Amino acid sequence: MTLGRLFRRKTFDHGVHPRDFKDLTSGLAIRRLPFAPRLTLLLSQHAGAPSRPLVRPGQEVVRGEPVAEAAGYVSVPLHAPATGVVRGIELVATAQGPKAPAILLDVYQGASQEILYEAPPDLQNLSREDLQGLLQGTGIVGLGGAAFPTHVKLRPPEDAVLDTLIANGCECEPYLTCDHRIMLERTDDLIAGTQLMMRALDVHRAMIGVEDNKRDAVKAIRSKIPANSGISVHAVETKYPQGAEKMLIESLLRRQVPSGGLPSAVGVAVFNVGTLAAIGDLLPRGRGLVERLVTVSGTGVSRPGNYLVPLGTPVRYLLEHAGAKPEAHEVILGGPMMGMSVASLDVPVTKGMSGMVVLEQRHSDLKPRQVFPCIHCARCVEACPMHLNPSLMGQLAAKREYTTVAQEHHLFDCFECGCCSYVCPSNIPLVQYFRIAKAINREQAA
Ligand code: SF4
Ligand code: SF4
Repeated sequence: MTLGRLFRRKTFDHGVHPRDFKDLTSGLAIRRLPFAPRLTLLLSQHAGAPSRPLVRPGQEVVRGEPVAEAAGYVSVPLHAPATGVVRGIELVATAQGPKAPAILLDVYQGASQEILYEAPPDLQNLSREDLQGLLQGTGIVGLGGAAFPTHVKLRPPEDAVLDTLIANGCECEPYLTCDHRIMLERTDDLIAGTQLMMRALDVHRAMIGVEDNKRDAVKAIRSKIPANSGISVHAVETKYPQGAEKMLIESLLRRQVPSGGLPSAVGVAVFNVGTLAAIGDLLPRGRGLVERLVTVSGTGVSRPGNYLVPLGTPVRYLLEHAGAKPEAHEVILGGPMMGMSVASLDVPVTKGMSGMVVLEQRHSDLKPRQVFPCIHCARCVEACPMHLNPSLMGQLAAKREYTTVAQEHHLFDCFECGCCSYVCPSNIPLVQYFRIAKAINREQAA
């Protein structure tokens, strides 16, 4: 092995280095948010078929009790995030725009909110299929933001031969630090969940990838990894979007997922560290997912932090507890690179919501709104981690040549990381163009 290879930093090609603002919350321990008077539990807060309600208006439920069942294989159940009474099942505002059905739950403020509803399984004597069923029963989905039902990843395509589980602890989005805190404060759950998933996938190697701005997390995990467990932890370069699964696979294993392919095509299954910690916590106890950790940060709040939030909590309630300042101007759900601004503060916290960034006007309007013509500087090409040509794709999309951009320029390999828009000196809304182009192509295909 050459010296260059020996000391090569684990990373991928291209990407960007935005200022991360993580010091606002990375040193603050996890805090529990009180229960809001009413929770709004969206039936569709995961990829796949919406859950099917099991309750009716007026029915009392206890915290942790299933209130909706999975409606098919790519679907998960929902559990009551609090003890209370079902007020109704109605259409409500969502962060995505169109209204969607949700179970409205009035919380009993005097209740202890202890989780009594659990059924610890005998995990030692379970088959892979049993484990898959149990995992679906917990309602766990990808907590990094994708919200893809986790149990589905345990059944890769038949021709795939998996050899490695990758735990994604990069958390490359600016401001977000909830995964960082989980790695520090819930290390045992993370390792337990990793071991359970290694067993379920029948793989003997797990690599935990952590950006090198979180050295304390690398140290905390390394100190707890059991001997001969096949688990190792690796620092990777701090660079956006290191946490995209294709990028992390390349950084850790130098394997490239083929165009249009899944990580299983190169023998890998990737899970977010928050998802694995939830599995390590809930699966052995037979409990359902009723809360999640949310980073609340930005200059628009006076009490930023990592809050443990009951699912269904209104964003407005979370904002009040984090001390919204009068100057707060924009609320972004997720991080600033891939998240979305919300128009209504009535939308609820969902399983896939890892952060809420609140900005004052002077920070939210950093970029000029005016769009200038492309100057062919190629900065977007140099930034794109998927080696696409965003400039050309953007020009085609602007001319409504949606089929050409999809068929000849790999539009669907774009995962909307936002690097191209971030570096564009002409402020061209490239990602928005690509979102529209994808929607039109999907519509045409349907
Ligand atoms: S948004 Fe798409 S085209 Fe732009 S840099 Fe990211 S992957 Fe490339
Ligand atoms: S970064 Fe903007 S201006 Fe430069 S080539 Fe890309 S689209 Fe054109």
